Amino acid sequence: PRDTVDVVIVGSGGAGFSAAVSAHDNGAKVILIEKEPVIGGNAKLAAGGMNAAWIDQQKAKDIKDSPELMYKDTMKGGRDLNDPALVEILTSHSKGSVDWMTQMGADLNDVGRMGGASVNRSHRPTGGAGVGAHVVQVLYDNAVKRNIDLRMNTRGIEVLKTDDGKVKGILVKGMYKGYYWVKADAVVLATGGFAKNNDRVASLDPKLKGFISTNQPGAVGDGLDVAENAGGALKDMQYIQAHPTLSVKGGVMVTEAVRGNGAILVNREGKRFVNEITTRDKASAAILGQTGKSAFLIFDDSVRKSLSKIDKYIGLGVAPSADSLVKLGEMEGIDGKALTETVARYNSLVTSGKDSDFERPNLPRALNEGNYYAIEVTPGVHHTMGGVMIDTKAEVVNAKKQVIPGLYGAGEVTGGVHGANRLGGNAISDIITFGRLAGEEAAKYSKKN
Ligand code: ADP
Repeated sequence: PRDTVDVVIVGSGGAGFSAAVSAHDNGAKVILIEKEPVIGGNAKLAAGGMNAAWIDQQKAKDIKDSPELMYKDTMKGGRDLNDPALVEILTSHSKGSVDWMTQMGADLNDVGRMGGASVNRSHRPTGGAGVGAHVVQVLYDNAVKRNIDLRMNTRGIEVLKTDDGKVKGILVKGMYKGYYWVKADAVVLATGGFAKNNDRVASLDPKLKGFISTNQPGAVGDGLDVAENAGGALKDMQYIQAHPTLSVKGGVMVTEAVRGNGAILVNREGKRFVNEITTRDKASAAILGQTGKSAFLIFDDSVRKSLSKIDKYIGLGVAPSADSLVKLGEMEGIDGKALTETVARYNSLVTSGKDSDFERPNLPRALNEGNYYAIEVTPGVHHTMGGVMIDTKAEVVNAKKQVIPGLYGAGEVTGGVHGANRLGGNAISDIITFGRLAGEEAAKYSKKN
């Protein structure tokens, strides 16, 4: 081997960095490898928030939440196909994970609403700006502070095992160094999902053939093959999530928080057609059912002011505005008269406090301040729920649920946490909690071996 360490982490997203920092803090010598020239994976792109219950920021705002309620919401969102033991970890550790990140310097003080959640539990930086970029930056800074050996342009190719089936290292390919192997007692796979690999996506769910994707280029699923070749079983591969709101003009994902903070969805006919904060699968299907297979997020300046991320969309030119709904309709090809009636009707529902049209559970504010905005959106492939099977110690298991000694998995590369459908805000929670757990378990395991 070229190097000898205790733990090798594969992938530099939120799960990989969490695992690296936690393995290090549990006494392990660590190498973190990343096949792309940039760190952060998809985690860096996450815009919504980090779900957690029940933490001080919520208490301060008198939001009544609990790990039990988060558990219930997560199972319901995943159509009860989630692995209950993993959801139990996700929800009971969520507070500890926010505290851990906060101790490392993260600002997760803003609390917002995401689809499928009974209460506001999505924690994000003050002002609501991109949680993923922030979390990755904090983890990266902490990895640097600890002198963790981070190797870019280095792909994990094959997990190497002893004759009796224990992990003994990993074969990697560096862009300049070529192939070499690193000796290690434990390997943590944190390689993310495969949403960017449309051939693989469409082979599992033909309805998604040709869909655009929100993911970064590395999200093609080669880590799943590494896991499978090492004996790991894959599960739930057919469950692939389309994010309901990708901007048609710019291809950027428009965070669910825009709806959570009050935007409505209308079709070209100027009418609402769905509870805007339903789960992602239902919202996607509803949008694809409209004329032109797209819809418009409509909001005003009060919503814009409530979420700084919206200024980014405006800056990107994907959220045109006008001082009247009729003008906005003319610009965007929406029936302006119907749109005016729809917004008036919606505002009256906000006043009454109950959405008797579509049963939307939160009605944060009327849409009647300043300019109006429209973002045309369509669903794109966003997250792959399936992946390698793990147990409650983040150990990778085979089809018979037997542990592969020394092999761990965390984050989107794993299957089971989210069942058939992931709730917004649960990805960041998942990668921090399970990344941290995998790092800790891998470090402990390497000490024993
Ligand atoms: P998660 O959200 O689970 O942390 P991300 O998508 O954020 O997942 O990060 C996964 C990272 O792993 C990406 O940066 C991706 O480029 C990297 N990666 C994927 N496959 C490999 C591999 N075989 N070797 C090294 N890095 C990989």
